[in-house]
Amino acid sequence: MRNCTSSRNRLEGVTDSPTGPGVRLRPEILATAPYRQGKPAPSDSFKLSSNENPFDPIPAVVEAIAAASVNRYPDAAALALSERLAARFGVGHGEVHVGSGSVSILAQLIQAAAGPGDEVLYSWRSFEAYPGLVTVAGASSVRVPNLPDHRHDLASMAAAVTDQTRVAIVCTPNNPTGTIVTADEFAAFMNAVPNNLLVLLDEAYVEFVTDLDAVNGSTLLGRYPNLVILRTFSKAFGLAGLRVGYAVGPEQILNAARATAIPLSVTEPAQRAALAALDHEAEILERVDIIARRREEIFEGLRAQGWPVPRSDANFLWFPTGSDTASANDIFLAHGVVARALPPEGIRVSVGEAESVDRVLAAAAEIAESFPETLAHHS
Ligand SMILES: *Cc1c(COP(=O)(O)O)cnc(C)c1O
Repeated sequence: MRNCTSSRNRLEGVTDSPTGPGVRLRPEILATAPYRQGKPAPSDSFKLSSNENPFDPIPAVVEAIAAASVNRYPDAAALALSERLAARFGVGHGEVHVGSGSVSILAQLIQAAAGPGDEVLYSWRSFEAYPGLVTVAGASSVRVPNLPDHRHDLASMAAAVTDQTRVAIVCTPNNPTGTIVTADEFAAFMNAVPNNLLVLLDEAYVEFVTDLDAVNGSTLLGRYPNLVILRTFSKAFGLAGLRVGYAVGPEQILNAARATAIPLSVTEPAQRAALAALDHEAEILERVDIIARRREEIFEGLRAQGWPVPRSDANFLWFPTGSDTASANDIFLAHGVVARALPPEGIRVSVGEAESVDRVLAAAAEIAESFPETLAHHS
């Protein structure tokens, strides 16, 4: 104890050193930026940066959370929720795996399948979380650029598979571009890749899809030995703050995810809230329908302004602002819209409150006027 103060000072000195900490950390981790959350919105603006559900929780969800016990550990297997989901998808409960958000399941599956020397394949731009998860697993990312129309280039992705590829991630609708993969494109991809390659179909926004040609993982269960679909209660179901998502796929693969999982991370309030939301799915889907229609309203408004926005099947829209991304984002901010700027490609704007629609369209009109080349370049 005698040296406590002095060694603490020394430690702080080391941590503050511009040359980095004295402890030896993995260089690829040191080079990785911590996860950047959507900015907190000033009180007079709309937070449209994280694809959250703008509605307050339905009463049944609020009641379920209030009734959940918190002095006891949760059910580690989330059995009630797994069984409910299994019945819904017509699979055994071992073919469902519940996690604290589908991002945590992504991390588990990547860790289970890929390590140093292995490759994880995905499109780019796609979900911002993928690169970090791959790095943490010690594996390497292989990114295949999206097509000029912002859709996944599945043919090039299939061609990029090597002996080192352990996981391929297909995101549909794709975050941040909103574009879908069709059922035919996905079937061709699955036929082109080896069936010992783990394919993750990330369907975080599937409930918002209205394109009838879009792939839907729930129709593919049991068809491929190497396919896992990932879904979440964070977006359509409005439970982002509780952290609950799930995977459906072959039991053996999900057992590997369970083996890498941190035990007990899906809390009891989260499990109860998810069950309550499923009990009242019609009420949830009414809201999803409102969001999807609001998305179409914004999309039509943007097309009328001349914006080359890709058609979106998610709860957000993609502005391909290219090198003008930072300036365009400032205009959104000035209109009280906190969006997600992803330079140098563009800006993702979530579909939020009804009152936010006019602001988004007004900001978009001003951006179009200020940077006419943004509209011309990409159309
Ligand atoms: C939001 C999102 C998820 C799920 O997030 P969780 O809150 O961890 O369930 C997964 N994939 C994509 C592409 C997302 O945008």
